[in-house]
Amino acid sequence: MTYETVRETDPAVADALTGERERQNDTLAMIASENHVSEAVMEAQSSELTNNYAEGYPGGRYYGGCEYADDVEGLAIERAKELWGAEHVNVQPHSGSQANMAVLTAILEPGDTVLSLDLTHGGHLSHGHPANVAGKLYDVEHYEVDDETGRLDYAGLDDLARSADPDVIISGFSAYPRTVDWAAIQETADDVDAHHLADIAHITGLVAAGEHPSPVGIADFVTGSTHKTIRAGRGGIIMCDEEHADDVDSAVFPGIQGGPLMHNIAGKAVGFGEALGPEFEAYAAQVVRNADALGDALEMHGLSLVSGGTDTHLVLVDLRPSHPDTTGKDVEAALEETGIVLNANTVPGETRSAFNPSGIRAGTPALTTRGFEEAEMREVGDLIARVVDAPEDESVLAEVSAAVDDLAASNPLYE
Ligand SMILES: *Cc1c(COP(=O)(O)O)cnc(C)c1O
Repeated sequence: MTYETVRETDPAVADALTGERERQNDTLAMIASENHVSEAVMEAQSSELTNNYAEGYPGGRYYGGCEYADDVEGLAIERAKELWGAEHVNVQPHSGSQANMAVLTAILEPGDTVLSLDLTHGGHLSHGHPANVAGKLYDVEHYEVDDETGRLDYAGLDDLARSADPDVIISGFSAYPRTVDWAAIQETADDVDAHHLADIAHITGLVAAGEHPSPVGIADFVTGSTHKTIRAGRGGIIMCDEEHADDVDSAVFPGIQGGPLMHNIAGKAVGFGEALGPEFEAYAAQVVRNADALGDALEMHGLSLVSGGTDTHLVLVDLRPSHPDTTGKDVEAALEETGIVLNANTVPGETRSAFNPSGIRAGTPALTTRGFEEAEMREVGDLIARVVDAPEDESVLAEVSAAVDDLAASNPLYE
């Protein structure tokens, strides 16, 4: 994308778009929820389908002129079914949060009880945080990970479910580096007669590629994002069995959304098609190997990983044992100066605050897309550790910055 047409009519926006492309090329995106889509996905997302009103579903729209919208949405649905093996798929949620809201409104009444992981332990705002609409509509109880092991406390979840008697248990997380035992949570949900919503937003691609066990066929509802480990452009998706299909579809539209973003659904179709291709499984496997290599490098420098490692695409570093006076925000800001972009994150047993937490979270999906393998990830780990040791040392930051420039230049993203 060269933005030539935008430049002619709107140089200010063109400058920002070009700046963002250069930023992505020149820096290392290690926000665990970010990735880089293909030019094909971006082209589909910028198509004329942005002009089309397609309220309803393929074959049953409220407006005329939807034949190509039907084609595109049909392709996205068929490909998603093939990727995740779900009986029913809704590709219309504008985001992962909308997908969750749709499922919750499909199965709950205001005042019902939600049991989900605490945000500071790796949960998500849309799982019932007081600032989110789910937190305002529903009674929310939280389970936690074990402070010592950093792993989900399945027994604690089971105990809490028996006392809280939830209507839905939400699993699936934003900052959890370990494999999730979906069946164990389902067993608890069955025992207390609750629905189970598995939100695989972060690991949608890992699940599609078989790099993480799938909750499809176990949990009643599975939601995901389409822009994280699967590179299909920004949006959400819902999967369920036929029994719940009508409830889910009407909860999305007309329940919480109007016209679907058909241009984004075209991006989803293209991205899902790419993920069905022969290279995606190798990509997802490399994402996991890269996270492991990154974690090893950080540990070699004395940094402490929550749960002692990772099975997935991300590592969570607890700075307190090795650097008790350094906060996640200190490290995030210093790293950003060098061109490594990641985020400060709360850790289990957080002793600071959500705004200035004690950890950092780093993911490998985006760097793997641009061709990084284990050797480069270990180098990145070395660079991160140097900055953690000396976040205020300008000469260290300058050296790290030069190394980041070299790594980015030898793995270009968009020409
Ligand atoms: C990222 C994420 C979502 C979706 O986020 P959106 O920004 O709304 O697309 C939902 N759940 C979890 C667990 C997430 O990590």
